[in-house]
Amino acid sequence: MHASADALRRVASAILESGGSAVAEADLVADHLVLANLSGHDSHGVGMIPAYVRHLEAGLVAPNTRAKVVKDDGPMLMFDGGRGYGRVVAGEAMDAAIARCRQTGVVALTLANAHHIGRVGAYGELASGAGLVSLHFVNVTDHRALVAPFRGSDGRFSTNPVCIALPGTERHPPLLLDMATSAIAMGKVRVARNEGHLVAEGILVDPQGQPTRDPNVMYQEPHGALLTFGGHKGYALAVITELLAGALSGGPTIQPGNQRLGGVVNNMFALLVDPSRLAGVDWLRREIDGFVDYVKASPPADAAAPVLVPGEPERMARATREREGIDVDATTWDEVLQAAETVGLARAKAEALVA
Ligand code: NAD
Repeated sequence: MHASADALRRVASAILESGGSAVAEADLVADHLVLANLSGHDSHGVGMIPAYVRHLEAGLVAPNTRAKVVKDDGPMLMFDGGRGYGRVVAGEAMDAAIARCRQTGVVALTLANAHHIGRVGAYGELASGAGLVSLHFVNVTDHRALVAPFRGSDGRFSTNPVCIALPGTERHPPLLLDMATSAIAMGKVRVARNEGHLVAEGILVDPQGQPTRDPNVMYQEPHGALLTFGGHKGYALAVITELLAGALSGGPTIQPGNQRLGGVVNNMFALLVDPSRLAGVDWLRREIDGFVDYVKASPPADAAAPVLVPGEPERMARATREREGIDVDATTWDEVLQAAETVGLARAKAEALVA
């Protein structure tokens, strides 16, 4: 299936609205998912809809829920997401944190108990778009653990994403580090399974802890596990991320003393910093321009693959996919249409929305 971003937005929004979301929420979440597809992260695009609908059916995501303030104490802001759609409640928490950061110069923000917040880069982009620096640490709870600790062999935590964003300059767009601490995001294992591909080496282990490239080990009992990126360093970052996100927010970590209802809950700890209150925006821009130019001028080892900076692959993917449209593999598309039917949107009607 090949469709324009607009067509995918229409169908995603219609499914979410049929699932009980007000129009503005359905549009916001649909836009967020399709922006992930546009950015080259199909793992966090419309292929998440079947999971969202399963969670709706099970009462594990609460449409039309607003983020609730738990603590508002100067530069400290705590929110509870009440299992609302992640893009909605994390967006509200970020809006509040950005406004506060203009007064206080720095904000420590937590969000607990949000349904899947999706591509974390979206929240970094909110901050960098406002001229702020932000750091985001996110854990994933409410379902079985997926990622094995370094030297371990079975899942003990999840894909715990980290995102760090810096504002752009006149010459360079914002910099955006946005990644899972697992070797790849779980959604990319789903995409590989749906497309019938093997994953690369060094990403998965089978139930005996032995290396495998078969994505199906994550979908059949006994389960295999993902590995962290970068060996012990990625593992160490994943552990710290789990604790920053789960413990500082009052949301749970994935330890078994906490409930697992089978949904996807994200908790986030974020730090926002106003660079004008440190060395100043002029200096930041001067150094971004000078450093990015310097790094990118490194002669490419492969002439066809020039040096990029964080955030650039996503921008390049957006430019291509805005122009050429987005491919959705047949299995994923069938799952999306089944999800539409589950919430009462006839398959033919959903298909007509992308025609
Ligand atoms: P990835 O492996 O594609 O890494 C992405 C990061 O690497 C980006 O910052 C990108 O700009 C940078 N990058 C890639 N190639 C580069 C190059 N050649 N030069 C410089 N920088 C480069 O992404 P991932 O780890 O698969 O994560 C995908 C998405 O999944 C992210 O948006 C993440 O937020 C999301 N995610 C969400 C959750 C959740 O629970 N909400 C969990 C895990 C991941």
